[in-house]
Amino acid sequence: MRKLTEKHIILASHNKGKLKEIADLLNPFGIKVTSAGDLGLNEPDETENTYVGNARIKAHYAAKSSNKPALSDDSGFSVEILDGAPGVYSADWAETPNGRDFSMAMSKIWNKIQHSKMPCKAKFCCTLCLAWPDGHDEIFEGSVKGEIAWPPRGSNGFGYDPMFIASGMSQTFGEITPHDKHLISHRADAFGKFIQNCLKG
Ligand code: IMP
Repeated sequence: MRKLTEKHIILASHNKGKLKEIADLLNPFGIKVTSAGDLGLNEPDETENTYVGNARIKAHYAAKSSNKPALSDDSGFSVEILDGAPGVYSADWAETPNGRDFSMAMSKIWNKIQHSKMPCKAKFCCTLCLAWPDGHDEIFEGSVKGEIAWPPRGSNGFGYDPMFIASGMSQTFGEITPHDKHLISHRADAFGKFIQNCLKG
């Protein structure tokens, strides 16, 4: 497994919610993060149907374009009785002609499951890809299991956070603090593996 020796990396994302969470997670290691958006890089098309495939596209594109190591996060929300949807297409379910609308995306999910037996199991998944300009990469995966909450609650976090309660908790990801989300989230799970393998030792 290749170690990350550089103290400045590119985050291969234009998503401000992810940028904040990832900058917070890397800050204790003295690693500065600049987003691909701030560098004016394009967003490559996510043409794969897996988290790993799309994470690789984003990280390799940013690493080659910036000539620096680049980290991507491909993640999503999966509802068990919807066979894992929206999953890799979580961002697409929120698309409108005027930008992304997650209230609408959450309602789409609820409309499909509201007559099902509750609680409805769901999970968040995260795949991180760290790519270097020479084409090498490392992959780390994380998840957090829980159930659907309806109506959505809380204004912390982003995306589908207000409709998800992690197992053993009573508040949604939209209600808990960012600090508490970082302790248990899918992103924190994947980051733990990234830190253990690429930053320590
Ligand atoms: P992508 O990885 O940029 O293709 O998009 C992932 C999408 O999954 C985001 O736009 C969110 O809708 C959703 N998502 C991923 N992680 C989270 C999270 O931590 N909270 C809420 N929604 C998330």
